[in-house]
Amino acid sequence: MKQSTLHIGLDDTDSRDGMCTTFLAYKIVEYLKKERVRFLDYPYLIRFNPNIPWKTRGNGAVALKIQTQKPSLIKKSIIEFVKRYSAVGNGANPGLVFYENNSVPKEFSDFGRMAMCTLVKRDTAKKFATQNSIETFFMGNGQGLVGAIGAIGYDFDDHTFELISYRHESNFGKKRLIVKDSVKRMQESTYPGTFNSYDESKRRVLIAPHGLDPVLFGVRGEDVFSVVKGASLVKFPEKFSGYMIFRSNQGTGDHLRNELDIESLKPFSSGHLTGSVYQNPKTNPGGHVTFSISKSGTKANCAVYKPTGLAAVASNLIKGDLIRIGGGIRKASKNHDRTINIEFIDIIKLAKKVEMANPLCTKCNKRMKSKGRGQGYRCVRCGRTSQNKVEENIERKIKEQLYLPVPSAHRHLTRPLQRISRFNTKIEFDNSNKWFCTFG
Ligand SMILES: [Zn+2]
Repeated sequence: MKQSTLHIGLDDTDSRDGMCTTFLAYKIVEYLKKERVRFLDYPYLIRFNPNIPWKTRGNGAVALKIQTQKPSLIKKSIIEFVKRYSAVGNGANPGLVFYENNSVPKEFSDFGRMAMCTLVKRDTAKKFATQNSIETFFMGNGQGLVGAIGAIGYDFDDHTFELISYRHESNFGKKRLIVKDSVKRMQESTYPGTFNSYDESKRRVLIAPHGLDPVLFGVRGEDVFSVVKGASLVKFPEKFSGYMIFRSNQGTGDHLRNELDIESLKPFSSGHLTGSVYQNPKTNPGGHVTFSISKSGTKANCAVYKPTGLAAVASNLIKGDLIRIGGGIRKASKNHDRTINIEFIDIIKLAKKVEMANPLCTKCNKRMKSKGRGQGYRCVRCGRTSQNKVEENIERKIKEQLYLPVPSAHRHLTRPLQRISRFNTKIEFDNSNKWFCTFG
């Protein structure tokens, strides 16, 4: 019988009170396993532009790639899953797409790139689907179609993995009791195979969500082996229903690879920009720091929020520092102009910081004292005098290096320090790996 290759993409099925796109994917995979389809890759978990206004928690989309003899039945059943598990009415706008073809054209990955760093309208997605023979199913306003299309064609330059484990239904909504110390030890013993499990500076567990969703925890890492090992070390006193491993763009910094155009700075776009500090930073009462940057004569406002832990770095910038920043564009409002909301600061060249100081006595190497207004300076030890103040270099408190937010302020896509020079070329799919597990 004829085998079809079927690409399945879904997005925006979750809401703030309960459901989660990765859980829906887990339920779909459980079903597909029963139907004995052939999996051609790990499920994808793709995070898109985190700076768009209508994102749910993490703007994550999922894609599956399978081979089957009965694509029509599979599609029908998946639509039923989406209807059953989506939180429509609670703010979800699910999008589901099917693309039946052996390979995915390059246009799909271009579409994914666009969804990564700009705001893509749902009508653009609908038009793209029609032009490319993509079958679509959506509920709500269909905004989820953007991520669903972007996910099936995602082109990885680098990727990571996440093992997500799911709670037993009887525990949904209850407090998660993950043993903090076990997460800290897990991070230490699996480094650098896993990342962002625990924030040492804030002593915070980063693997577990706090909401009502079915996720127990997720361990992020470089390969399947590391995330399985990491998950096995996490201790928790509750039953769980199973886990699934995703190939992901988390931790790759993909949303900031795009170079921002300082002339246009389109609201809700993400990317990076190199320029020089134009105006010394101001620290606002809430601890946020604002300054402006200039490039080829055009200026832009920048803001660094206190929870990022970057405010101290930003407040020490001075006019003339050459920096590369990454972040998202916040729309102008009544209280502020259009602003780049900073996600990293890479200091390329520090400017000289000079202050006027009393002259040094050349004999005693002592600072001279003022003789009174307009009367010059005198060394109290030997009596030498000098007329004018001198310029003095002040030591800078920041260095020419990359500064990232503290791990607890990282976005899913933030490239953590330990991954700065690490790029995984696409790791082959190994179906013998235990990438899916259910006790259901
Ligand atoms: Zn002297």
